[in-house]
Amino acid sequence: AKGLSGSNYCYFTESMEAENIQRLILESDLRKSVGSDQYEYFYQPKVNANTHTLCGVEALLRWKNNKGEYRSPIDVIPVLESSELIIDAGRYLINQACLQLKSWQDKGHFFDVAINISARQLLEADLVETITQAINNTGCNPHFLELELTESVLMCDVNFALKQLKSLRELGIKIAIDDFGTGYSSLAYLSRFPINILKVDREFIKDLPSNKDSITICRSIIELAHNLNLTIVAEGVETEDQLKFLESLGVEELQGYYFDKPLPLSDFENKYLATNEI
Ligand code: C2E
Ligand code: CA
Ligand code: CA
Ligand code: CA
Repeated sequence: AKGLSGSNYCYFTESMEAENIQRLILESDLRKSVGSDQYEYFYQPKVNANTHTLCGVEALLRWKNNKGEYRSPIDVIPVLESSELIIDAGRYLINQACLQLKSWQDKGHFFDVAINISARQLLEADLVETITQAINNTGCNPHFLELELTESVLMCDVNFALKQLKSLRELGIKIAIDDFGTGYSSLAYLSRFPINILKVDREFIKDLPSNKDSITICRSIIELAHNLNLTIVAEGVETEDQLKFLESLGVEELQGYYFDKPLPLSDFENKYLATNEI
């Protein structure tokens, strides 16, 4: 059809169609593999700013197709989200995170494990039950479990989100606001939610320490967050200059390529949890 009428229109719809087909194939592959080890977590360390030792990890989805090639969560999550798949896949992943947490705790490693929860998951009435079951089935200590939620997720349905967060906090879980500063809500408003941790988005970190606006924004976020007794995590720390500057501002935890990219389980364990037993 391309070029028949001389317009770009046919060409455009053809490529859109190709995109839709690719998407349907991905959705179907994602559906077939729910509950299998094609859904894998990589782990990115979070480091204590004072001691430079491991204080937690963020679990990040790395889905692989049946040829073993990894697909970015940037492609995968929206497809899971726009279908109902995020619920079943999410349930599996929550359980995997709790299993991993339990396995580390059994080996005497106590650090926080954070997982990402999308809007569709938070708005699902079952979420609290799903997490309760994962905690009970695995026997993990929930005080080391963290949920990362974005501001916009909380703003979808403020009253319901508030109710969910209260129930989750009662389980002993910690709540983190992810990508802070990129949404439209104020921290004053967010303080109505029972949150523990604020993750300052990479957007405000990447031009430190030279950009005046970034400095001003980081300073004020950190001051306000500290007044609200929140722990601050700086995301996307890539350079030593950023690290030093953030430490001077009193940030508690650091995460980013400066320390490590998200690592496959075995690489993470070899690098961070290796014992001296040989
Ligand atoms: P996010 O939660 O903001 O995760 C941080 C992203 O930044 C990760 O990308 C991480 O690999 C990347 N990153 C970490 N440090 C640096 C750095 O120093 N520089 C740069 N440039 N990037 C850095 P990733 O793994 O591709 O994940 C993308 C997004 O996909 C996540 O953003 C999160 O929103 C979503 N996601 C990942 N896993 C899950 C999951 O299991 N469930 C849900 N609902 N969402 C997930
Ligand atoms: Ca996150
Ligand atoms: Ca983030
Ligand atoms: Ca992000």
